[in-house]
Amino acid sequence: MNLTDLSLIEAQNLLQKGQISSRELTQAALDRISALDGDLHAFLHTAAKSALEQADLADQKRSARPSKDYSLLGIPLAVKDVLTVEGMPCTCGSLILEGYFPPYTATVVKRLQAAGMVVVGKTNTDEFAMGSSTENSAYGVTHNPWNLDRVPGGSSGGSAAAVAANLVVAALGTDTGGSVRQPASFCGVTGLKPTYGRVSRYGLVAYGSSLDACGAFGRSAEDVAALFSIMAGCDPLDSTSQNIPVAKIMLDKGSSLHGIRIGVPKEYFIKGIQPDVELKVLAAIDVLKNLGAEIKEVSLPHTEYALPVYYIIAPAEASANLARYDGIRFGPRMDGENLWDVFTRTRGTKFGNEATRRIMLGTYALSTGYYDAYYGQAQKVRTLIKRDFELVYREVDAIACPVAPTTAFPIGAHGDDPLAMYLEDVFTLPANLAGVPGLAFPVGFDASGLPVGMQLMGRHFDEAGLLRIAHAYQQVTEWHKHRPNLK
Ligand code: GLN
Repeated sequence: MNLTDLSLIEAQNLLQKGQISSRELTQAALDRISALDGDLHAFLHTAAKSALEQADLADQKRSARPSKDYSLLGIPLAVKDVLTVEGMPCTCGSLILEGYFPPYTATVVKRLQAAGMVVVGKTNTDEFAMGSSTENSAYGVTHNPWNLDRVPGGSSGGSAAAVAANLVVAALGTDTGGSVRQPASFCGVTGLKPTYGRVSRYGLVAYGSSLDACGAFGRSAEDVAALFSIMAGCDPLDSTSQNIPVAKIMLDKGSSLHGIRIGVPKEYFIKGIQPDVELKVLAAIDVLKNLGAEIKEVSLPHTEYALPVYYIIAPAEASANLARYDGIRFGPRMDGENLWDVFTRTRGTKFGNEATRRIMLGTYALSTGYYDAYYGQAQKVRTLIKRDFELVYREVDAIACPVAPTTAFPIGAHGDDPLAMYLEDVFTLPANLAGVPGLAFPVGFDASGLPVGMQLMGRHFDEAGLLRIAHAYQQVTEWHKHRPNLK
């Protein structure tokens, strides 16, 4: 048995039966990271010593009370480097936080650690999660395990690649405009963006505060459901987290979707979408139909405004959030003649191009005289986009569509064209603007052997509904079981 091939649910069963130990599982993950991450560069930091200590503690705990149902105890986890973990660096993929060690752990990580998960390291990300390819990391690009010349998607590209390459069983990501779903799609894994307010953002370094969500990657909907059940819940340390109970998600063996209505929005099948992507997604929708779901065409008429609205709101909020990186409180400091000089030299040298672009766009959109025309107007259109979803959810229980218009593109393809990069997000941004949950999972491969993903979006707080549909699909298909051919 190859321990790194195990899914979370498989690992859970074997640990529970005492057939493997957490130390063995963790050591296997660390060995595979050492062997493969030179080529992939999914990790920015690994913590072998503390991971093995945690694994030993997990093994001791289990042997003290072997009959208890421990769910996640002793299972390795990778954490995107925009979430804080005490004792580990947190760079956010930026030079401006080089060498920064946060003094506390993000709530979402804490919850998983309390359940016994073993954090093996921090994964690569676009600088401050701004990007769709992980090329905007100051520490080098992550490579897609299916084809090393391709991007893994972004911004949580390190986490998605780590799960796809079997470096870890599960990983955390964040999603402000698609950063869990799009890399999940590009890397052929299952990724969930929960409802805004469902999972605490405390300890997530803020990007677009009204859009940010912590999500998870796993090999299947079942794996993700196990993670999500622990991650979700109210946190007094995040004022936007909601006090809505999270029921343990039960995914049953039977895969009938009778009584489930799924909407297919016509605005998501547009000109310019890669034909392979459209074909595979439509085929997957057929599978859902064969499982008993009622499929209906629906319309989300304001979809075309999601991209411009997002690229006003997200940079505006980012420009405010990134104001705190001034060389005084966090990270490295450049010398200067006076305080102003210190600020401008530190920020001028340590922020990369994309972060700088967002700060400038956002500051402009919020400035006197322009606020109403840009930020204010964008917020109004955002309300229309949210209303589109509310209306459609009167008719259907979930929405099925592509995750991204293309499969993983070549590294460097959008190098000097930020607009082309922003267009990659066209199908993922609406869920963040509306605050609804979104789930991405593999539904096939394109002609060059790259994974194609499908997206399900649901009602606020109905992550369970999405996971059930994806689980039903994964019970009758094998796409989620394919792994890239690495050493
Ligand atoms: N690609 C989008 C952006 O650059 C979304 C990123 C994200 O979800 N963090 O803002």
